[in-house]
Amino acid sequence: MDIDSCKFSSHHVVLFPFMSKGHTLPILHLARLLIRRGMAVTLFTPTGNRHFIANSLADTSVSIIEISFPQTVPEILPGVESTDALSSMTLFYPFCKATKLMQAEFERKLEVLVQVQPVSFMVSDGFLWWTLESASKFGFPRLVFMGMNQFSSSVTRAVVEDRLFDRVESDDELFTVTQFPWIEVTRNDFDSTFLENDLSKEVFMDQIKSISNSYGHIVNSFYELEKVYIDHTNSKGSQKTWCVGPLCLAEPESPEPQKKPFWIDWLDEKLAQGCSVLYVAFGSQAEISPEQLQQIATGLQESKANFLWVIRKKESESMDTEGLEERVKGRGMVVKQWVDQRQILKHQSIQGFLSHCGWNSALESMCYGVPILAWPMLAEQPLNARMVVEDIKVGLRVESGRNGMKPGFVKWQVLMKMVIELMEGEAGKQARKRVKEVAEMAKMAMEENSGSSWKTLNLLIDEICNKEQ
Ligand code: UDP
Repeated sequence: MDIDSCKFSSHHVVLFPFMSKGHTLPILHLARLLIRRGMAVTLFTPTGNRHFIANSLADTSVSIIEISFPQTVPEILPGVESTDALSSMTLFYPFCKATKLMQAEFERKLEVLVQVQPVSFMVSDGFLWWTLESASKFGFPRLVFMGMNQFSSSVTRAVVEDRLFDRVESDDELFTVTQFPWIEVTRNDFDSTFLENDLSKEVFMDQIKSISNSYGHIVNSFYELEKVYIDHTNSKGSQKTWCVGPLCLAEPESPEPQKKPFWIDWLDEKLAQGCSVLYVAFGSQAEISPEQLQQIATGLQESKANFLWVIRKKESESMDTEGLEERVKGRGMVVKQWVDQRQILKHQSIQGFLSHCGWNSALESMCYGVPILAWPMLAEQPLNARMVVEDIKVGLRVESGRNGMKPGFVKWQVLMKMVIELMEGEAGKQARKRVKEVAEMAKMAMEENSGSSWKTLNLLIDEICNKEQ
């Protein structure tokens, strides 16, 4: 046991991730970091998500406590306990509101837990704003996990709090973000559900209120990547931001499994043939119309690039994936199931990622040195894409008509041109060079004992646990 493990080993942390893969996975990585420091970790989750979580953390000492997800919102079907399984993303905000119905059972189970082992602090997702009240009742601090980088969360918060949308008349009128006067944005840089939907505004305001009253904010990013925004937030003094990522690098390198998934075998073959491959995936939430899927298929086909396209099952039903594979004659593969995305991005054959720029995907791509073709679809993804392309310069942007939440329709010709530019052009070459540097920075940030994120997490635990005594 090293020094940190001894120092922190008497402490117990409660984790409560939000029910979507993009928010759950980083908390699972965080659990590993806490366990590596000798801490006890208890994770709460609705029953339906237990299997995935228990599998992902099977090699750790984490304890999992199940809560039933109350089915009182008629549109949310029984058994749907994760946003990935919602029949439509229009139910996202009703789902967020419904999570509060878990509060009573959560507190009953917490009451039993704290008798057995006192809790030092809790990390819960921003969408579970009501957990602040629970932590306060039991007298331990709550930290918020938002699943966003600091740039996108600072800008979104500033825009909502200062009601900046009210000051512009059209979606493409530029305005300045008051707190960051060097940033000019348009309404198109935001998900239009924020503008149009009362329920989403309510959820957002619930979150902001609870964030302001929480102990601090844990961010899945690293200091060297977005110093300006982290320093800015921390200089305000009221509420601290702790950058402890990239969390995807928390998992120890595992030996190559004996039995590889068939898509990794396929990538091995491509590598042996000296081919580079474009990875295509749009995360667990984006909804893509059959017409748009068709344009993507044609764009990939005509680009002549090798590609591995991981498609959600629901979407794969509306297109002829076998037909596409036949037409490209071994140049492309379509996978219709859950994959380990990091295993794909790590593969030496992968030389580009056509991505929706969910923050986890963007960060994973940077960590494994893969340049990004950014095609944002919803939530804060347009801001992430802007950061990736314009600030960090590790990618190119698919111009998608920029009409709010629904990405403007992208024609296959546009996509084809951008794929060729990323995989073979000068701009792609520059982005590939830069992303290797960023990958090195990311690794260094997570380096045990010396990395900025490693040290930040220690400082955070030390600060809370010392206060506690
Ligand atoms: N992911 C995965 N396999 C899949 C689909 C997604 O491992 O088949 C992971 C991906 O690596 C990332 C997360 O799920 O860590 C998705 O989060 P992101 O923020 O990129 O997008 P979201 O799904 O929230 O839109």
